[in-house]
Amino acid sequence: MNDELRVVIDAGHGGNDPGAIGNNFQEKDLTLEISKYMYDKFRDAGIPVTLIRNTDETISPTERVKRVLESYGNDPNVVVISNHMNSGDPNSETAVGAEVIYALRNDEVLAKNILDELANEGQIIRKHYQRTLSSNPSKDYYFILRDTGNTTPVLIEYGFISNKEDINRVAGNLENYADAVVRAVLKTYNRNGVQNDDNIYTIKSGDSLWSIANKYGTNVSELKALNNMQNNMLTIGQTLKIPDNSSNEIYIVRPGDNLWEIARRFNTTVQTLRAINNISSDNLSIGQKLIIPK
Ligand SMILES: [Zn+2]
Repeated sequence: MNDELRVVIDAGHGGNDPGAIGNNFQEKDLTLEISKYMYDKFRDAGIPVTLIRNTDETISPTERVKRVLESYGNDPNVVVISNHMNSGDPNSETAVGAEVIYALRNDEVLAKNILDELANEGQIIRKHYQRTLSSNPSKDYYFILRDTGNTTPVLIEYGFISNKEDINRVAGNLENYADAVVRAVLKTYNRNGVQNDDNIYTIKSGDSLWSIANKYGTNVSELKALNNMQNNMLTIGQTLKIPDNSSNEIYIVRPGDNLWEIARRFNTTVQTLRAINNISSDNLSIGQKLIIPK
């Protein structure tokens, strides 16, 4: 038992196993590319990290599990991120967006945080869930969740290779989505592998006290007082306490956003968004701040 957070990144498929194919993409290439970005970003954040494959290599499920468990041992503080692209019915282009599947032995927090952060990068969100073997409902359906001991694995499906628009969006945002996953892991666990609570924010590149205060509906002096800060210096990976009264989230409108899509993304309704933000028209301006109910 080692109480430090460590990360193992599994680039799904590889070599003889291309995974899903469609719209001029092979799943194994996209999973490798996003995994490499993610590896660099965890390293930059000072988190011990291993990549299960960094070439187009065929790996059996047994070998994959072995590499996972040999990276940092069989320990709950080892977060295993298995990267995948989804595929739907080839005759249907309706399936769209990201899913995270988490193990029966874990809670939903990491899976949920990953989807929240992917939504912040503009991806459409489907669901986070657990899936069991039909022959034995006490076991996980996916081997990377089932056979990886006491580690904390998540299987991320970033989007649908069967849906041209979806997979083009994913392929054009691999680095941003990798960033999102790193933020979600850092938001969920502190460096000692202990789960963070909701009122902790982990500093990422580009943050300032002002931007964080704005995001959580507080102000710079309150943040500084709460965190015993003498100056405004922040370092990447540092954690800040966020005041409890910030029960609503603030969303900043981006190009291409509309109320309907924002409502759907945050599981609310256009009516609620209009009411809480006191807006009557459908027009949004880029950079406009919207209050999102919890
Ligand atoms: Zn896959």
